[in-house]
Amino acid sequence: MKDIHVIGHPLVQHNLTRLRDGQTAPQEFRRLLGETAMLMLYEATRDFTVRPVRVKTPVAAARGSRLAREVVIVPVLRAGLGMLDALLQLIPDARVGFIGLKREEKTLRAQFYHQSLPKNLGRFEVILIDPMLATGGSAVAALDLLHERGAKHVRLVNLVASPQGIRRVRAKYPRLPMFAAAVDRTLNKKGYIVPGLGDAGDRLFGT
Ligand code: URA
Repeated sequence: MKDIHVIGHPLVQHNLTRLRDGQTAPQEFRRLLGETAMLMLYEATRDFTVRPVRVKTPVAAARGSRLAREVVIVPVLRAGLGMLDALLQLIPDARVGFIGLKREEKTLRAQFYHQSLPKNLGRFEVILIDPMLATGGSAVAALDLLHERGAKHVRLVNLVASPQGIRRVRAKYPRLPMFAAAVDRTLNKKGYIVPGLGDAGDRLFGT
């Protein structure tokens, strides 16, 4: 699907296959999700704006570049936490916001139960992370909140996306940079991605 940047790197795909495997235990699942998030972040931040700077090496002056904006990583609770630590290893000075959303069982609609975000979001690169983009309801609710709070430079990183979720996000955010390791076939009646990897939160935390 063209609407989303699929990261086909062999290491990402290798890890994703292990993550999909229902036999993979929570400890291994956590490690793999972190490692995969790290590899994906490398691609997902490729077009971050940089500004030119000059530094002095011990030998001479050199031209270099620095990130133009500070970074905020925003995991959608709770499964997004499985990607957070790994991303903080790559961007240790990033700030962290949290968005807590749960799906109403019957309607599958997203409802907020927690939100904490830095002020002046407009000056940050915001990376919204959630392993699963299923119906797209949570993603659109989280994106709406980020934009209401002034965010201007937002990107969405999911591990697995459904065609339905992508269409729903695209309908409202046609220009949002979106990244995933795979776009799966469909959703089942319960809103799970097929084949997906099951409930990412349950698999991470062994619940
Ligand atoms: N959330 C998950 O954790 N898995 C799915 O398949 C869909 C939503």
